[in-house]
Amino acid sequence: MVVMKFGGTSVEDAQAMAVVSSIVKSEITKSNSAPMVIVSACAGVTNKLLTIISESENGNLREALTILEEIKKKHETIVVSLFQETPIALKLLKKIQHVEQDIKKLLKAIHAIGECPNSLKDVVVANGEILSSTILNEKMNLDGIKTTWIDAKLILITDDKFTRAKPLWDISESKVNLLVRPLLDKGYVVLSQGFIGATQKGKTTTLGRGGSDYSAAIFGSLLNASAIQIWTDVDGVLTSDPRVVPNARRLKQMTFNEAAELAYFGAKVLHPATIQPAVTKNIPVLVLNSKRPEIEGTVIMKEIQSFDGLVKAVACKKDQTIINLTTTNMLGTVGFFYSVAKIFNDQEIPIDMVSTSEISISLTVSCSYDSLNVLVKQLSTIADVKIKNKVASICVVGDNLQKSSGVASKIFQTVSENNINIIMISQGASETNVGFVVEEVDADTVVRSLHKTFFSQIKEKTVFA
Ligand code: ADP
Ligand code: ASP
Ligand code: MG
Repeated sequence: MVVMKFGGTSVEDAQAMAVVSSIVKSEITKSNSAPMVIVSACAGVTNKLLTIISESENGNLREALTILEEIKKKHETIVVSLFQETPIALKLLKKIQHVEQDIKKLLKAIHAIGECPNSLKDVVVANGEILSSTILNEKMNLDGIKTTWIDAKLILITDDKFTRAKPLWDISESKVNLLVRPLLDKGYVVLSQGFIGATQKGKTTTLGRGGSDYSAAIFGSLLNASAIQIWTDVDGVLTSDPRVVPNARRLKQMTFNEAAELAYFGAKVLHPATIQPAVTKNIPVLVLNSKRPEIEGTVIMKEIQSFDGLVKAVACKKDQTIINLTTTNMLGTVGFFYSVAKIFNDQEIPIDMVSTSEISISLTVSCSYDSLNVLVKQLSTIADVKIKNKVASICVVGDNLQKSSGVASKIFQTVSENNINIIMISQGASETNVGFVVEEVDADTVVRSLHKTFFSQIKEKTVFA
């Protein structure tokens, strides 16, 4: 059996939901077994739910309620378009109204207190996936697909790190074995939500933005699925972000390592945590386009035919900060690295790139962490700290890249031809990427130029579509 995950644009409106239903139907016919289906909130809904939380925190309850009304209308429109005035439509419209009332009560509480704890944020935000999956469940059943809707809070049990929870594998596995597997064995499609889970005490959690991919990989691993399908709005993993490089090409295959580096260094097409559960059980991940299901997409697996030195993709992560640490104490002493790592660890801020010299360390982090100020204060107790905001890390990805001569020089020549300054170069322990940092304003130019350098000539049919 396979796990199929449909992202926000794949369920953005009635027509998209109808397409999802038909894709699931073809999968059942093809594989003669029932898949588990994981669904995101309709496109834009998670952003809107987060906006109404911050508007309420900031005293703008009226604005928040207006946006809540838009969210309600969006779902009502889908329901009316899919089910007209049938009893199913009435049932769903009532459900939408209930959800809206629940959210309204929470927004009033947030407005009254003036802040929203992460645990409450997760309760509000999880409603996006609850609504989309509830509607899709009725559509699939109407289309004759025997489908059972399961609340992800019953089967994905997590720690209590609200807004960025991690699965508790053993407990989730027993829940999946108890609640999901028997239904699949009886031929029922199990439809559940991505992104959300619950603590052992039943409190709602979320896995972080874009986390539905991760949910699909977790369920794929727990069910020992034969494949994890990520259905999205592009033809597969491309050689670069098509919003920056419109002529980016589809990769037919890539390795787990390459996909992990690409996702970690900014390719939004996959959540960075997606690959790990697939690697552990060696389950292929397929990235497919729900708008063009006939395209074969990208297969990500352990090993592919090797093309030594071939660059596969260029990724870019914006909104980064460089932290430069200088200390004479580092000369000939041990323990400085440990102290630095401990501070990052205590603040739970991951380091993206590192570069070191005899007396200094440069690190990059994402700016999105609330605790960045605390981090800097603590680092100041052990080193001189200089911060540079508004930078972007660029990452050129391909297995065996660092072994192949000439790739690094081609990269840096391309950047210098554009008169763009490289602020930092990562020493790259991995053989799968070469990374460096530029000013954020230069990032798109660099990505486009590197894409031209590495992909304009290549005609390799086995790797690229
Ligand atoms: P979903 O809602 O289906 O999860 P996302 O918006 O999270 O979809 O991810 C798909 C988007 O990722 C694409 O529309 C594309 O703009 C972006 N993207 C960034 N880098 C890449 C890449 N290398 N290959 C494909 N898509 C990419
Ligand atoms: N709906 C969530 C988000 O927008 C999760 C996801 O789409 O993967 O972040
Ligand atoms: Mg996504």
